[in-house]
Amino acid sequence: MLAPYAYRVEDSRGRRYAEPSHPYRNDFQRDRDRVVHSRAFRRLENKTQVFSRRFSDHFRNRLTHTIEVAQISRTIAAELGLNEDLVEALALVHDVGHPPFGHAGERMLNEIMQQHGDFFDHNLHALRTVEQFEQRYADFPGLNLTFEVREGIVKHSRDYSASEFPQLSEYLLDLRPPLEAQLIDLTDEIAYSTADLDDGVEALILTREQVREGVPLFAAVSSEVERLHPNAPEKLKFNEALKSVLDRLVSDLISHTKEQVANAGVNSAGDVRRLAERLVAFSPEIDRERRQIKQFLYENLYYSSVLRADKEQGEQVIGELFAFFMSSPDDLPEGHQAKAQQEPLYRVVCDYLAGMTDNYVQEQHRRFCAGSRHLPV
Ligand code: MG
Repeated sequence: MLAPYAYRVEDSRGRRYAEPSHPYRNDFQRDRDRVVHSRAFRRLENKTQVFSRRFSDHFRNRLTHTIEVAQISRTIAAELGLNEDLVEALALVHDVGHPPFGHAGERMLNEIMQQHGDFFDHNLHALRTVEQFEQRYADFPGLNLTFEVREGIVKHSRDYSASEFPQLSEYLLDLRPPLEAQLIDLTDEIAYSTADLDDGVEALILTREQVREGVPLFAAVSSEVERLHPNAPEKLKFNEALKSVLDRLVSDLISHTKEQVANAGVNSAGDVRRLAERLVAFSPEIDRERRQIKQFLYENLYYSSVLRADKEQGEQVIGELFAFFMSSPDDLPEGHQAKAQQEPLYRVVCDYLAGMTDNYVQEQHRRFCAGSRHLPV
């Protein structure tokens, strides 16, 4: 069933620690299952995507977003003849490196780390999570995932240069990732863009009219919805249009990628790796629409005043708790205190905070920082 350019599980470069094969699950299926059974995956339920729990239980959190990315990715993978098991594992793991409080949390951790001459990157944190922080198996640290899943964690959304990131040199940084990994970044964007329009309207930050006016693709499909369902309630018309936008993005990604693959003449996963550019892409017309949606969301949702209070509170919590553990490392859990013997304390504190859920980081902040004011470092 696999296309010639799909990544075959038999061609996997394998795991860091050799393991006997499983009688009825292949290595990529096992990786997917290991991700699903990991703590980091479960914690996604209590990590903010865009809206914190304070708003409503109906909105996406990082776990439901991840499940949506997996659904969209599997559909596209099946249609392109890609390896669905690898795609599913990559989709389910793609956000496990995100800290609490969404992008505000990420920005704050990065800012603090930069003051220590370091940085925070969620892809690299995800890699450390699956390689070191998950402790579940007697025979090896981490989840012992296959090379391709680890490579996809690193390379799905951006390229890293070997000179800048020597610690990643094993991940074939001069080569493109397999199509299965290339797909994830774009399905991620399809999933969050459409979901954020949905949640943004539901949260009353955006109006339906504003979406129709600000997103040309949405306006285009809305007239068709109006023709087909003139008497439907506005809310359901909006939903039909949103479904249609999602379908247009997915269908275009499939058809344009097929075209790119045919034009590039790739006949194997190895050919895909050796190309100068990634092949999974939207057509130029739909790519323009995609950018417009993103721009609309930046201008009207992500920086809206309604979300600002949550973001500022998230940044304050992370900043103060970081400063607290730096000045009082004895209050770190024992395992983390031991790590601080081998790594700089700021790295240990950063890893600890990045792994926390929104709830837990707030609870820790109440416990250690209530009353006193610890200045951010
Ligand atoms: Mg994502």
